[in-house]
Amino acid sequence: MGKVTGFMEYERLEEGYMPVAERLKHYKEFVVALDDSQAKIQGARCMDCGTPFCNNGCPVNNIIPDFNDLVYQGDWQNAITVLHSTNNFPEFTGRICPAPCEAACTINVNGDAVGIKSIEHAIIDKAWANGWVQPQPPKHKTGKKVAVVGSGPAGLAAAQQLARVGHDVTVFEKNSRIGGLLRYGIPDFKMEKSHIDRRVAQMEAEGVVFKTSTLIGAMPEGSKVTNDAKTVISADELKAQFDAVVLTGGAEQSRDLPVPGRDLDGVHFAMEFLPQQNKVNAGDKLKNQLRADGKHVIVIGGGDTGSDCVGTSTRHGALSVTQFELMPQPPEQEDKPLVWPYWPLKLRTSSSHEESAEKGILQREFAISTKEFIGKNGKLTGLKTVHVEFKDGKFIEVPGTEKEYKADLVLLAMGFVNPVASVLDAFGVDKDARGNARATTEFTGGYATNVAKVFAAGDMRRGQSLVVWAIREGRQAARAVDEFLMGYSDLPR
Ligand SMILES: Cc1cc2nc3c(=O)[nH]c(=O)nc-3n(C[C@H](O)[C@H](O)[C@H](O)COP(=O)(O)OP(=O)(O)OC[C@H]3O[C@@H](n4cnc5c(N)ncnc54)[C@H](O)[C@@H]3O)c2cc1C
Ligand code: SF4
Repeated sequence: MGKVTGFMEYERLEEGYMPVAERLKHYKEFVVALDDSQAKIQGARCMDCGTPFCNNGCPVNNIIPDFNDLVYQGDWQNAITVLHSTNNFPEFTGRICPAPCEAACTINVNGDAVGIKSIEHAIIDKAWANGWVQPQPPKHKTGKKVAVVGSGPAGLAAAQQLARVGHDVTVFEKNSRIGGLLRYGIPDFKMEKSHIDRRVAQMEAEGVVFKTSTLIGAMPEGSKVTNDAKTVISADELKAQFDAVVLTGGAEQSRDLPVPGRDLDGVHFAMEFLPQQNKVNAGDKLKNQLRADGKHVIVIGGGDTGSDCVGTSTRHGALSVTQFELMPQPPEQEDKPLVWPYWPLKLRTSSSHEESAEKGILQREFAISTKEFIGKNGKLTGLKTVHVEFKDGKFIEVPGTEKEYKADLVLLAMGFVNPVASVLDAFGVDKDARGNARATTEFTGGYATNVAKVFAAGDMRRGQSLVVWAIREGRQAARAVDEFLMGYSDLPR
């Protein structure tokens, strides 16, 4: 329960950041984690509130009060055991989770939440440093074979759970490296990729086989989705070779902006831009890397992906970075009595925004819509916008607010519409109204699609979401598959 009076004695302590000038020189992580004594003080702040809303706010239901208390007591080894009991990869979430748990923390009703994410970060980093994270190979093999299609956090969580109960698991990935959007979407400065490599090694020791550059099913001709496949295996072949198949292929179809001028040279999806930098960081030599150096960059889309484009463009040396958001600017502070314990709508300023602002190159525009891209000789030179108001369920243009912006590079970061349809079609999997794989999350029969022995989880089932939700779905789908194969399952949900 932490210290009885801890939350009254100690303030919330934020993790530190390296100075902007320093961190802009590289693509490495720049968050300075809490040291042992700082983490202990954060743990002490957990107030034994009786009903830990944080535990419900966390999508994997991390048992937060327990690990907070263990850190306060200095029992780090039991803290990692508790953390791992609900979360396969706390080093991912401890770095990049938006921490809905903290929005739900009881102290957050009228004070500053416990720094739960920073404690999670400290526990798992200490556990790796001390050799407490070891492979957990199964005691018995079941002889059942499971194929996992896609190696993002959902696929990795499903594969690890299934291998640990004795199934022979093979993960198929169309890209040349494992990790999904953790590897190619999320920039290294938010999460270095050595964290994925370390888990892959652990999972290999637990018996998981990884087959990269291998596409299952089909990709549409000319698709701009990242795809390094050298081998293609058909859906029927896969079904014939395995006792169960888990589809965790993500929601990779980027939302487009089909306005006049979309074909101009200089208008790209964020997911053409970000993966290239991550590949270069990993040592790949790219012939024509899409770069922002010396350019006026406009990022269309105000979310995480847009913010990652801002951070990457700033590191490239962009002349200016302007970010557009269609929705009006939210308030700087949420109305806590109204929204707690739910995720509040408020203005979020990321570390990438701070960097770009400190360099004096950032502009953020809200309630703005792009009407046309303009260019010369096929090359983008700018775009035309208009301000909008949200009325009666639709966006209305505000007369007289038309404006032109100069731009050499536009990055479309408006989210993802759904999974690539051809992958689901190859298996004959039914889609829901949003184009995602249709499967429920029921305790019995959940994650199963309409196709016998084919399951779906993560962004491919729920639509674009978060790493922590992907881990939850991967874990729960693993339990469903285990139950399907064995008639029962001891795996947790
Ligand atoms: C730029 C960016 C930044 C983000 N930042 C954050 C963040 O800070 N915090 C957060 O929580 N979330 C963030 N997200 C969202 C998060 O990354 C995703 O919700 C999460 O990765 C989804 O996991 P997944 O396993 O379902 O799918 P993915 O991570 O998308 O992985 C799917 C994998 O399946 C592979 N695949 C697809 N089809 C096939 C096929 N037919 N054959 C073989 N392989 C296939 C793909 O190549 C891919 O590797 C971000 C997303 C983006 C794009
Ligand atoms: S995974 Fe995310 S929501 Fe859960 S405890 Fe960690 S930071 Fe909080």
